[in-house]
Amino acid sequence: MKTKLASTPYDWLDRSLDSIHKANWHRSTQTITSKAGTIAKVNGREMLMFASNNYLGLAGDRRLIEAAIAATEKYGTGTTGSRLVTGHLALHEELELAIADLKNTEAALVFSSGYLANLGTISAIVGQRDLIVGDAYNHSCLKKGAVMSGAMAIDYQHGSLADLSAKLQAHRSKYRRCLITTDSVFSMDGDLAPLREIMNLAATYDCMVLVDEAHGTGVFGDRGGGVTNALGLGADLIQVGTLSKALGSLGGYVAGSAKLIDYLRNRAATWIYTTGLSPADTGAAIAAIEIVKSESSLRQQLWQNVAMVKQGLQALGIPAIAFDSPIVAIEVGDIATTMAQSQYLRDRGIFAPAIRPPTVPTARIRITLMATHTPSQIQTLLQYLGLAEQEAKPKR
Ligand SMILES: *Cc1c(COP(=O)(O)O)cnc(C)c1O
Repeated sequence: MKTKLASTPYDWLDRSLDSIHKANWHRSTQTITSKAGTIAKVNGREMLMFASNNYLGLAGDRRLIEAAIAATEKYGTGTTGSRLVTGHLALHEELELAIADLKNTEAALVFSSGYLANLGTISAIVGQRDLIVGDAYNHSCLKKGAVMSGAMAIDYQHGSLADLSAKLQAHRSKYRRCLITTDSVFSMDGDLAPLREIMNLAATYDCMVLVDEAHGTGVFGDRGGGVTNALGLGADLIQVGTLSKALGSLGGYVAGSAKLIDYLRNRAATWIYTTGLSPADTGAAIAAIEIVKSESSLRQQLWQNVAMVKQGLQALGIPAIAFDSPIVAIEVGDIATTMAQSQYLRDRGIFAPAIRPPTVPTARIRITLMATHTPSQIQTLLQYLGLAEQEAKPKR
């Protein structure tokens, strides 16, 4: 008689993976075997990179590599402990001063990632008696941070001041503290939050504001200080960001008042109970901030590339959600058409992925531009986007 194979406590994994596959939501990794830049070797094949967050090309910059090596030579590879015990280096202080200067704030604190900076900050500054009102398109870490905090979390319609205002009007008075959260540059759409108007509403309703500058830092502002700096905002808000996008390193930060930073050093669990940022990442980030502040030519090149893509797409009659940032989300049609065009581009050596529901409400090809893309690389992109429009038809 056949006996049924014994079940294990992990059998649910098969069922869950099955349903992920059936929904067509399964994702896997693409292996890169080259240095960060505009050309990447992906799964053994050279491709033009239009999908990285390396906006200024700094992740492959010789000066960052040398700074990472120098920091490693001086301090070693690991920081050996949490910042409050053995893991606090003079190098971290130097980086935090540089970030505060870049962001025009009194102080800053670096975390092991931008994700952890948001989780730790949000859950430290609001709790069960408080309210969070966040843009519906906010990044995952703002949403998870809200859940972790235990506060009442409400979304407002993407970019809608009318809805934000209505939500504050309806709910603010029932709670102790209130925090408004928003990305400054939205990662999947590339449009900008109306920060100045949000600050005005925050003042009216006595709310704190946390702005995630992950895609803004290094890209906006005269010295690369971000959208907040470009708008002259700084003092009365909490700025979070990452060292891993335009700054080409790894890690996250919070910038704000000295009191806020002192408080976070005592209350942000994702900072207190984790190992200090590695010397290599810290050194590279310091070098990046120096470059970002002093070399506005990199930003000029980046914005020229954005303008070139805007012109090219308009000439082709291909609509994009926005041209406000180096993230250009192209809406080519329904999901099947978007997938077919993305595959067409991939087959021709262009790395520009399709992003589709449920990650975003509408399917799009998401392109990110770099300062180091050459005009001819951008022409190639535009040429294939035009051809894809004519030739790439979905399989029916
Ligand atoms: C990438 C990103 C983060 C996370 O930053 P990491 O340093 O990669 O953890 C946070 N917020 C936004 C809006 C992002 O795009």
